[in-house]
Amino acid sequence: MNSTDAVVVGGGLAGITAALDLADAGLSVVLLERKGSLGGATYSFRRNGLTFDNGQHVFLRSCTSYRRLLDRLGVGKKVELQDRLEIQVLRPGGRPALLRRSLGPAPLHLVGSLARYSPLTVQDRLSVANAFRAIRRLDPDDHALDAVAFGAWMDSQCQSREAREAVWDLLLRATCNISAEECSLQNATRVVRTGLLDSVDAGDIGWSGVPLAELHGGAAQSALSTAGVEVRSGWEVSSVQGRPAAGSKDRRWLVDGPGGRIASAAVVMSVPHWSLAALVPPATVPPSLDSLGTSPIVNVQVVFDRRVTDVEMAAVVHSPLQWVFDRSRAVGLAEGQCIGVSLSGAEEWLGGRPQTVVSTVLAALGEIFGKVSQARVTDAVVTRERFATFRASAGSGALRPGPRTSAPGLYLSGAWTATGWPATMEGAVLSGHAAASCVVADLSSKGNAELADQSTRAF
Ligand SMILES: Cc1cc2nc3c(=O)[nH]c(=O)nc-3n(C[C@H](O)[C@H](O)[C@H](O)COP(=O)(O)OP(=O)(O)OC[C@H]3O[C@@H](n4cnc5c(N)ncnc54)[C@H](O)[C@@H]3O)c2cc1C
Repeated sequence: MNSTDAVVVGGGLAGITAALDLADAGLSVVLLERKGSLGGATYSFRRNGLTFDNGQHVFLRSCTSYRRLLDRLGVGKKVELQDRLEIQVLRPGGRPALLRRSLGPAPLHLVGSLARYSPLTVQDRLSVANAFRAIRRLDPDDHALDAVAFGAWMDSQCQSREAREAVWDLLLRATCNISAEECSLQNATRVVRTGLLDSVDAGDIGWSGVPLAELHGGAAQSALSTAGVEVRSGWEVSSVQGRPAAGSKDRRWLVDGPGGRIASAAVVMSVPHWSLAALVPPATVPPSLDSLGTSPIVNVQVVFDRRVTDVEMAAVVHSPLQWVFDRSRAVGLAEGQCIGVSLSGAEEWLGGRPQTVVSTVLAALGEIFGKVSQARVTDAVVTRERFATFRASAGSGALRPGPRTSAPGLYLSGAWTATGWPATMEGAVLSGHAAASCVVADLSSKGNAELADQSTRAF
C-alpha cells in the first residue's frame, strides 16, 4: 500500500487544477484517472488520419481562471481569442446579421449591434434592450434567482418568441447547455452579466487552435509531472473509505482500485456527479445530487472535399443547427473543409442512427451554405455526450454542493459543484482551486497537520 498527503480522483480540468494547486502547496499528490489520458470531458480521437474533438469547446475572455490554467500548462498561445466579440447570425433565406461589440464602454458596447439586429423587429430590439437593462440590476450571487426559470422571467419581461430564439436561446443554450426557457435565472444572469455586460471585452470568444487532447490532456500530463504530481492513468477507483486514524479523532482515507490501495490524509473527488455516490461512503455527499440530472451535447463534424463557406464561427437561427464552426485547422485537414455543428441541450438528437443525424444536419447546412450542394462529403462523425453536463434548470443551484463534504478529509470538485457558473471549463477550474484551498487550509490547521503526519507514518 502507498501513502500520500492527497489523492485526486479524476483527471478532468477540475482534477488537474486541484492536483497542481496541492503540489504547489508542497503536498505529495497522486492523481488517479480512469481513462488512458487526462482531460476528462475534453478529449480527442483519431479517425481517418484526422484528429476530432468530442465537441467544440469555446470560452470567453472573462473565463480568467481557465485562461490562467492554460498559461500554467504552457498552452496559452495555442488558443484563438477574438480581438472583439463578433458573432455572425445566419438563418435560412435571410440576410446574415452581426452581433459585434463596439469599443465601449459596457454595456453600451452592444447597443449598436442590437439596434441593427435584423432577425428582430424594432419593437423586439427595444424589448430585448430593456431585458438586458433588467438583468444588469440582478445579482448573479443572489440565490433567490436560482428558483426562477428564465422562461418565466422572460414572460415577465414580455419577450417575444423571436427574441427568445434569436437572442436568449442563442446565448444561453450554448453556455448553459439547456434551453433558455428551462435555464435558471441565476445561471442566465451569471452568463449575461459576467460573460457579456459587466465589462466591455468579457464576451470576446476563444477556442482552441489544436485538438483538445493536446491543449489539455497532453499539456497537463507534463505540467503535473513537472510539479511532482504522480499521475496514474487507466486507474479506475472502485471505492474511497474513511478509517479512524490511530490516536486521533480524524480519519485517514483509503482509495481502492485495480492498481491496489492508496492511503491519504485527504481525497478530492473530481469525478462527474452521477458517478460519485457509488464511490464514497453513504451520507458523505448530499442525496440532492441525484436530482441534479444531466444534459446532453451532440456534435456533428462533416468533412467536405472542398470549402463550403468562409464563415469561421456562426450561430444559426430558424434551423435545427445551433452553432457552426470551421474545424478544418483543428482537425488537421489540408484540403477541403471540416464543418462542426454543436448542438446543446440536445435530447432530441440522442435517438436515431448517426446517418439520419448527418442527413438532417447536411440538409440544414445546405440551407445556409449554398456550396454544400456541390460538395462531396468525405467523412462525417457524430459524437453524442449523453451526460455532458448537469441540468442547469431552475433549482439546480440549491443542489450543487461546495468543496467540503460531511466527512473531514473528503472534498469535491467538478464543474457541477457550487462554482456560481454553469457547467463550463471555467467552472471546472474554479472548483479545482476551491477544493485544493480547503484541503490546504484543513491540513495546515493543527489537528490535520498531525493527521497528515500520522497517515504518512501509518502506511
Ligand atoms: C461535448 C461537450 C462540449 C462542451 N462544450 C463546452 C464549451 O464550449 N465551453 C465550456 O466551457 N465547457 C464546455 N463543456 C463542458 C466542459 O467540458 C466541462 O464542464 C468540464 O470539462 C468538466 O470538467 P470536470 O473536471 O469537472 O469533469 P470531467 O471532465 O468529467 O472529469 C472527470 C474525470 O473523472 C474521471 N473518472 C470518473 N470516474 C472515475 C473513477 N472511478 N476513477 C478515476 N477517474 C474517474 C473521468 O474519466 C474524467 O476524466 C462541454 C462538454 C462537452 C461534453
